Amino acid sequence: MRFDLISIFPDYFAPLRLSLMGKAEQTGLVDLHAHDLRDWATGKHRSVDDTPYGGGAGMVMRADVWARALDEVLSVPLPEPCGEGAPASFRRVLAIPTPSGTPLTQARVEDLAHADQIIVACGRYEGIDARVAEHYRGAGVEVVEFSIGDYVLNGGEVAAMVLTEAVARLLDGFMGNPDSLVEESHSGAGLLEYPVYTKPREFRALEIPDVLLGGNHAAIERWRRDRAIEKTTRVRPDLALSLDASSLTAEDRAALASCGVAYTRDGTAYRLQVRLAQPDDAAAVSELAARTFPDVCPSSLPAEAIEEHIATQLSPTVFEAVLSSPEEHRLFVAEVEGALVGYVLTHVGAHALPGDLVRPGRVEEGSAYLSKCYVDEEWRGSGIADALIERAVADAGEAGHAAVVLGTNRSNKKAQNFYKRHGFRKRSSRTFEVGGVRNYDVVMVRDLTA
Ligand code: SAM
Repeated sequence: MRFDLISIFPDYFAPLRLSLMGKAEQTGLVDLHAHDLRDWATGKHRSVDDTPYGGGAGMVMRADVWARALDEVLSVPLPEPCGEGAPASFRRVLAIPTPSGTPLTQARVEDLAHADQIIVACGRYEGIDARVAEHYRGAGVEVVEFSIGDYVLNGGEVAAMVLTEAVARLLDGFMGNPDSLVEESHSGAGLLEYPVYTKPREFRALEIPDVLLGGNHAAIERWRRDRAIEKTTRVRPDLALSLDASSLTAEDRAALASCGVAYTRDGTAYRLQVRLAQPDDAAAVSELAARTFPDVCPSSLPAEAIEEHIATQLSPTVFEAVLSSPEEHRLFVAEVEGALVGYVLTHVGAHALPGDLVRPGRVEEGSAYLSKCYVDEEWRGSGIADALIERAVADAGEAGHAAVVLGTNRSNKKAQNFYKRHGFRKRSSRTFEVGGVRNYDVVMVRDLTA
């Protein structure tokens, strides 16, 4: 790929001949040309700037000087593309650095890496006469006005080097190990990179996370992905809300939801808040409970039994009572754009466990009992249920409980796998009646003492 960097300070670009960039130039992967804009200036002083029309401070770079330079550089012959499928015409891009341009992103850089020639017109003073971009755009040239950040530099040279290096390192053969490009920040799904570590193993009392020393590659990959998600949501919430949803796994969605970002099935992202419910949430929780409960009932359960259960067990009055005693009942809700979309209820008081579980030896004494976790249909698969469960478990742990216990229908393997993913293990079974119908549950326990 050919780069033409035009500036009144062409010596600025000397560092591009160092390191990997220098090697890429030597091997012919990049063809780097630094030009002095003054070579196209005329007159005794070879002046490239003049006072601004309309008045004001500073000088503006002249369009006529830039046009002479750009006409010439835009028409230099390029090496004929070779090989099957080689494009019939060249892609030449005129890149103009300016703090008022669109932010330079990895996606833009990835696109520019397919160009044949990039010409960078480096401004100085108050910038380049606006008619330069207008003229070349009008003439059919691909013009990219880009900014490298929300701050102002003295000139476009640093921005030109940023663009050149960011593009060149994506060219096939530039990196010694092309795998280095795969998991970088801003690549793939759009996450920032996870933290990286090397020797020494101990540095000023700071240690390497255990998982990286264990050799379990799947666990390492998961840990890295979770750290990347956590960092992206914390440092760049804008990026966390615009990820490529098609590349997110169920585990990614769970990690995102735990960090306050939920993706719908169609790939739209929302900010999510998981919080302890307050007494004035009772009516909304009751509505949520009433619309989610029927979805999980076995088909054998008659409609009247479901209705009766909703009327007697999930009424606003029941939830008012629950929310009035947070020392016994812990109810967390998931809220998206002011609406409740999921909840989890744990009983933690002295009588937390249902009678059939208290029998000696069945579950640890002092266990918290996770009695309900429901999420609105449209939010299933978004990771919200995972975030709710983790929040309830963390809450039980903070309160000193040895374990969290739950019962789930024995035929619902999906739910059992879900709880397994959250560290619950099958312990025993139980039976109970709803509306005169016998139900069979597996009892699962998550040990909090480990
Ligand atoms: N008057 C201009 C403005 O307020 O937008 C700033 C001109 S600046 C002093 C001079 C040159 O530095 C610009 O023409 C551009 O080439 C370069 N430059 C400064 N900040 C930049 C940034 N954040 N991104 C890209 N180029 C920048």
